[in-house]
Amino acid sequence: MAEPLFDVVVVGAGPAGSAAALEVARAGRSVALIERGPFPGAKNVYGGVVYGRILDELVENWWDRMPVQRWVTRRSTMVMTADQALTVDFRAQEWGGAPYNGATVHRADLDAWLASLAVEAGAVLVPSTVATGLLRAADGTVTGVRTDRPDGDLTASVVIACDGVNSFLAKEAGLYPSGPTPGHTALGVKETLALPRGVIDERFGVSGREGLDLEILGCTRDVPGGGFLYTQLDSLSVGVVVGLYGLAKSGVRPEELLADLKAHPAIAPLVRGAEVKEYSAHLIPEGGYDTMPELIGDGILVAGDAAAMCLAAGLWLEGVNFALGAGMYAGRATVAALAAGDTSRRGLSDYRRLLENSFVLADLRKLRRVPGLVFSQRVQQQYPGLVCDLVQGMFQVDNPRPKPGVLRLLRRGARKHGVKPRHLLADALKGWRSFG
Ligand SMILES: Cc1cc2nc3c(=O)[nH]c(=O)nc-3n(C[C@H](O)[C@H](O)[C@H](O)COP(=O)(O)OP(=O)(O)OC[C@H]3O[C@@H](n4cnc5c(N)ncnc54)[C@H](O)[C@@H]3O)c2cc1C
Repeated sequence: MAEPLFDVVVVGAGPAGSAAALEVARAGRSVALIERGPFPGAKNVYGGVVYGRILDELVENWWDRMPVQRWVTRRSTMVMTADQALTVDFRAQEWGGAPYNGATVHRADLDAWLASLAVEAGAVLVPSTVATGLLRAADGTVTGVRTDRPDGDLTASVVIACDGVNSFLAKEAGLYPSGPTPGHTALGVKETLALPRGVIDERFGVSGREGLDLEILGCTRDVPGGGFLYTQLDSLSVGVVVGLYGLAKSGVRPEELLADLKAHPAIAPLVRGAEVKEYSAHLIPEGGYDTMPELIGDGILVAGDAAAMCLAAGLWLEGVNFALGAGMYAGRATVAALAAGDTSRRGLSDYRRLLENSFVLADLRKLRRVPGLVFSQRVQQQYPGLVCDLVQGMFQVDNPRPKPGVLRLLRRGARKHGVKPRHLLADALKGWRSFG
C-alpha cells in the first residue's frame, strides 16, 4: 500500500481539532488540519466563556497568550419567573489572577489563536475545505478523508474526527450508528451586544479585566432550556439554549425567547441601550455521558462535540474545556500508536485510558444524571416559581400579619405550583446524587 500523505488528518479546526493537531505536530509527526470555514472560528458559535485550566498542559503561560476579553471573577445563577428573579451571586478576587478560573474570549479569536499554535508547531492548516467522507481499506480501516476539492483525498494513518456536533464522520465510521438524536440536542442562539466598557464595568460591578458569567433558569417559557449572559470588554453575550424537541413542539421561535429574556425586568436594565452586533445560532450536544458514541475505531478517533463531550445543563455550559482535553489526549494517543506502529482500534486504545484518567470522562460520568434532572418538567416549569415565591414570602413584610414560617411558605408554594412533597424529596435526593 502507498505511504499515506500525512501521519494524521484532523477534521475540524475548533478547540478539539487544534489541540489534537498541536499535540501531534509537537511530536514531529506530519498532520493536516482541515477546516470547512475560510479560517478557524469562521463557522463557530459559543456563549463566550473558556475554563482554561486544561491549557496548563498544552500551552505554557497560556493566560498571557490567549486573546482574553475579561477574566471571570463573578459567577452567578439566576432563577426567574416572568416577573421575579432570585440570583445567587459569587465573587472571587483570586480568579482575577493567574492561574485564573474562566475567561471570556471571542470565539473567532480563540479558534484562530489555537490553530495558529498548531501551525507554528508544524501542522498544515487546510481551510475552506470540507471533509466529505472517509477513505477505507478493504478491511474497513480508516485510511484518510475525501474532501470537496478536486483530487482532494488526503490519506493518513489516523483520522481524528473533531467535526463538531452531529459528526457524520463518526457515523460513517460506524461509531455513532444512531447519531445524536434531537432529544439529546439543543439549539443555542446568541446575540452579541455592543456597550461601552465603562457602562459594562458600572452595570456589572466589575473593573479592569474582571467579568461576569451568569447562567439563568426559568427563562424559556415551556421549552426545556436555560439562558446566559457574559461580559466581554465592550460587549455582552446574551443567549438561550433550548432542547430541539421542546422547541419544535412549542412552535415558539428561538429569537422570541431571546427577546423575552432581554425584556425581563432583571435583565433589561443590564442590556439597555446596547446595540446588536451579531446574531448567531448553533447546535449543542446536551445528552452528556450516556449519549456518547464509541470513541475509537481502526484508524480513527472522535473528540469534542463530535463525541458529545459537552455539559450544557443549568449551572454549566462547558464544552470548550472538554474539547481541548479530548483533542489533546487524542493527539497523545495517536503519537504513541504511531510510535508503536499500531494504529488499529487496539493500538489507539490509550485514548480511552487518558480520558478516563482525566476530568473529561470523570466529570461527564459524575454528572451524567444532571441533564435529565435539569431538563425535567419540574425543574424547568415548577421549581423556578416555587423557589421565587418562597424567597418572596421570606423577604416580604406583611405587617400587621406575623411572618410565615419557611415550612408554611414551602407548603403553600408546592400547592400553588402543583409540586407534590414526595416529588420534592425525590428530586432533592436525585440532585444530591447527580451533583455529589
Ligand atoms: C450557543 C452556545 C453557547 C455555548 N457556550 C459555551 C461556553 O460559554 N463555554 C464553553 O466551554 N462551551 C460553550 N458551548 C459549547 C462549545 O461551543 C462546544 O462544546 C465546543 O465548541 C466544541 O468544540 P469542538 O472543537 O469539539 O467542536 P466545534 O467547535 O464545533 O468545531 C468543529 C469544527 O469542525 C469544522 N467542521 C465541521 N465539519 C467539517 C467538515 N466536514 N470538514 C471540515 N471541517 C468541518 C467546523 O467548521 C468547526 O470549525 C456553547 C455552544 C453553543 C452552541
